[in-house]
Amino acid sequence: MNLPLIELREVSRRYDDGPPALSDASLTVRSGEAVAILGPSGSGKSTLLNLIAGLDRPDTGTVTVDGVRVDRLGEAGSARYRRSRIGMVFQFFNLLDDLTVTDNVVLPAQLAGMARGEAARRATELLESLGIDRHARARPGRLSGGERQRVAVARALMNRPPLLLADEPTGALDTAAGRDVSRLLAELNAEGQTIVVVTHDLALARSCTHRTVRIADGRIIEDVRSHTAAEESVR
Ligand code: ADP
Repeated sequence: MNLPLIELREVSRRYDDGPPALSDASLTVRSGEAVAILGPSGSGKSTLLNLIAGLDRPDTGTVTVDGVRVDRLGEAGSARYRRSRIGMVFQFFNLLDDLTVTDNVVLPAQLAGMARGEAARRATELLESLGIDRHARARPGRLSGGERQRVAVARALMNRPPLLLADEPTGALDTAAGRDVSRLLAELNAEGQTIVVVTHDLALARSCTHRTVRIADGRIIEDVRSHTAAEESVR
C-alpha cells in the first residue's frame, strides 16, 4: 500500500454563526489514488478542498499533506506549500489572458525560482504531451474551453506537485470537451499522479477516479472504492 498523501483527522470548520460547513471529517488519501468528492451544492466540498490546499484553516482537527501540517502554516508558508506541492485546476480555468499560453504555464515555475531555460523546456514538454503545443504563443482567450482546461492542467503540473486538486474541471465544458479532460485526468492518474476532484459530474467521477467520497451537510456519508482501470483489465 502506498503512503498516505492526505490525512484529515476530525476536521471541523464553521463560518460565522452558520451550521458547520464541515463536521468531524476524517479522510486518508494515499499516493497514486484518484478520488472524487461528490455532494450537493453547499455540502462542504469547496471547504474541504480549501483546507487541503491551505487556503483555509480548520477550527479543530488536523490536515497533513505530504508530511506538512497544513493547518499550522502561516500565510507565507501556505503560499510556499501550494507552489511546491499542489497543482490546482478550476472550473473557469483562471488563466491570465494578457499572457501567452506558455507564459501562463511557466508562471508557477517562475514564482518557485526555477531557472528560465529549465522552465521553458518543461513548459514545452508539457504542452506537447497535452497536445496543445501549437497554441504555445496564443492568448488563452482564443482557445476552446477544452484547450484552455488543458493549459490549466499544464500550469498545475509545472512544478511537479505530488497532489493535483480539481474543482469542477468539466463544469464549464461541453460534453465532448468534458470527456476529453476527464480522459486526460485518468491518464495522469495512470502515470501515478494523485488526484482529488470535486464534481457534480458523475461521468467524470466514474471515468477518472476509483474512489468516491460523498458529502452531505458537512459530513462524509459514504466512501466507496471501485476497481481501477488497471485492475479491471486483468479481471
Ligand atoms: P460546496 O462546495 O459543496 O457547494 P461549500 O464548502 O462552498 O459547499 O459550503 C459549505 C457551507 O459553508 C455552505 O453553507 C456555505 O454557505 C458556507 N460557506 C462556505 N464558504 C463560506 C464563507 N466564506 N463564509 C460564510 N459561509 C461560507
